[in-house]
Amino acid sequence: MTARLYYTNSFLRAFDATIVERADSGRRLYLDRSAFYPTSGGQPNDLGVLGGVRVVDVVDEDDRVAHVLEQPYDGPDAVHGEIDWPRRWDFAQQHTGQHLLSGACDALFDWPTVSVHFGDAMSTLEIAAPAVSPKQLRRLEEHANALITENRSVTVTFEDAAAVAPRLRRPSGRTGTLRIVTIEGHDVSACGGTHLRSTGEIGAILLRRVEKIRENTRIEFVCGTRAVRRARADYDALSGVAERLSASIDEVPPLVQSRVDDAKALAASNRKLIDEVSGHRARAQWDGTTPDSGGVRRLRAADGVSADELRAWAAACAALPATLAAGVVRESRTIAFAVSPDLGVNAGAVLKDVLQTVGGRGGGSPRTAQGTVPSDEQIDNVLAALLATAAARA
Ligand SMILES: [Zn+2]
Repeated sequence: MTARLYYTNSFLRAFDATIVERADSGRRLYLDRSAFYPTSGGQPNDLGVLGGVRVVDVVDEDDRVAHVLEQPYDGPDAVHGEIDWPRRWDFAQQHTGQHLLSGACDALFDWPTVSVHFGDAMSTLEIAAPAVSPKQLRRLEEHANALITENRSVTVTFEDAAAVAPRLRRPSGRTGTLRIVTIEGHDVSACGGTHLRSTGEIGAILLRRVEKIRENTRIEFVCGTRAVRRARADYDALSGVAERLSASIDEVPPLVQSRVDDAKALAASNRKLIDEVSGHRARAQWDGTTPDSGGVRRLRAADGVSADELRAWAAACAALPATLAAGVVRESRTIAFAVSPDLGVNAGAVLKDVLQTVGGRGGGSPRTAQGTVPSDEQIDNVLAALLATAAARA
């Protein structure tokens, strides 16, 4: 059994212990006591150094803690351990912040916490709430930060499960002695994690993305130094956008909205223009082409057309009498084929057949069809085959 020193002192950065077992050729050490926190309760494990070797993982094995080392340790049984303190402090800020936030969700809105996750960049809280409005989120954030400013004490006690049960925010399934973490006048939780000494040490809580997860809601949050770092990154990103728009950051949201509206309107008018121009082009080509003996005009799209232009041109050709039309967008090797209805030819079926012979794929309606050819060399042969389709004016 490993005595867990962090249970009673989460601020122990270094400790001395004795190795009780070595496994995996000295890569996995078991100690009589340890300040290393193993991954559990959603909180990632500590890192650090043990016996001069880097600790890469700490595993909770019920009553023992396994220390997984970067390389084998073959020194004496008496070892010195040092915790990677900035990492521990960071997770203690996120973890204590989570207790405070869960308590605030409960107190303000009666939203029980379902699960928590502490990530390397972002942490999340899943609450039993069907929806969280922006207004509720702001209120939650303000309340949580007010509790931080009040610098309430955070204490750890060991209490009998039955006796403490009525005071717990969330029922514990365990019996016997529980480790209880209390935020003064705010929250009482059974928890084995590492926490701070007061809410002031959390520094700040920043709530971010709200996401619906089945019948619950997941809230992203960051605490302490991370919150400041995240806010800095947000500011840098936003001011970069503002600079490009030659505006202040407060002007960015309405300005972006109007640019998006403008872009949509431009795209719509551009589509209309392409349709018109393509219609004229198809008509001019038709007028300038001599029909074959069957009365059929066979038109090929100009080289260098865009995908939108080709689509519009093909549709326009299909609307002209006794016409077979084919074209390509070379960059994407996209082939279009169009047939006017009076020819009794099924464009989709013909294109599919022709493309199949060269290993390409495509299809469409009886009047217009699209597909792609696997290589540039096949393009001209495919277009020629399509335009050679047997047809005569009905
Ligand atoms: Zn906790």
